[in-house]
Amino acid sequence: MARMMKAAVFEAIKKIVVKEVPIPEIGPDEVLIKVKYTGICGTDWSIYNGWYSADKLPMIAGHEFSGVIAETGKNVTRVKTGDRVTADINMSCGTCFYCMNGASLQCPNFTQLGIHTDGSFAEYVKAPARLVHVLPDKLSFEEGAFIEPVSCCIHAAKAMNAKLASSVAVIGCGLGVLHARMAVLRACAPVIVIGDNKKRLNIAKQMGADVIININEVADPVAEVKKLTGGRGADYVIEAVGKPKTYQQAWDMLRPGGTLDAFGIAGDGDYMQIRPLDFVLGEKKITGSCAGAGPDWPESITLIENGRIDPKPLFSMKVPLEDLEWALHELRRDPDLFKIFVSPEISKREVL
Ligand SMILES: [Zn+2]
Ligand SMILES: [Zn+2]
Repeated sequence: MARMMKAAVFEAIKKIVVKEVPIPEIGPDEVLIKVKYTGICGTDWSIYNGWYSADKLPMIAGHEFSGVIAETGKNVTRVKTGDRVTADINMSCGTCFYCMNGASLQCPNFTQLGIHTDGSFAEYVKAPARLVHVLPDKLSFEEGAFIEPVSCCIHAAKAMNAKLASSVAVIGCGLGVLHARMAVLRACAPVIVIGDNKKRLNIAKQMGADVIININEVADPVAEVKKLTGGRGADYVIEAVGKPKTYQQAWDMLRPGGTLDAFGIAGDGDYMQIRPLDFVLGEKKITGSCAGAGPDWPESITLIENGRIDPKPLFSMKVPLEDLEWALHELRRDPDLFKIFVSPEISKREVL
């Protein structure tokens, strides 16, 4: 008989059932990880609502995790049982045109653990051994479960490649807070964060942002950013909301010759308007970035381990697996909540 574990299964749209399912069987090149924590991400909300991966249901979501290796496949030598780990969730084929050119995120056979295949809202999750990263002793399991979101911001920062002493405006105060931190680390100035939540904007300030703009108090953030940047607009703008309106604002507050990094996940049918002349005469540029992969992961570990990024102010709460559905709704209801960790090993909620 199969060995069983507890898992939060996304059974159908808006239906999560915590139940016993078989522990995943690992292949020769895979490891089985006993899950400590999994951070809840906006993507999980999208899967819950059927906006994303609806064709994959029923599945176990969860992709921002940490844990301990419980078993290793017979070919695995680079990690061992008992190692504290996290894993890069991006599984690409390794052999197509994109993979061969170092652009694994564009791989047509690309899948993400916990988004397209079973993830970590469970007692155990399996992962390819080659994607596993051992956590330095200094990193807590909570920080280990936060390496994924930081890796996404690292990927975006590298795509945008902001120069020293250049102005950066970030729209959005979710992961926008971390984008601001990355800009500070790259010696950009001023770093401006635009958002609608006082608590999160204050965290951005704490992380080194020079100016915060609360859109509940400032009617025209585009004019405000121009005022702060000699009337020109920002050298770099990061859109980290994902709405057509904020994309438009991002484009409008970008100076001629500047670069916009598209980070916020917009709807499938969403569009923004761009005058071709903004490219031709204005020489504005756009980069995009969709996830952190490959080297972004060890870099994320390095920045957290050495205190360049301290994510702890973003940690709000820990909840048992049984509270996942409650927590998904609570995150919508209370915008002051940032990261909620789910754990199969705890039995009551804990505010951090
Ligand atoms: Zn995520
Ligand atoms: Zn490929």
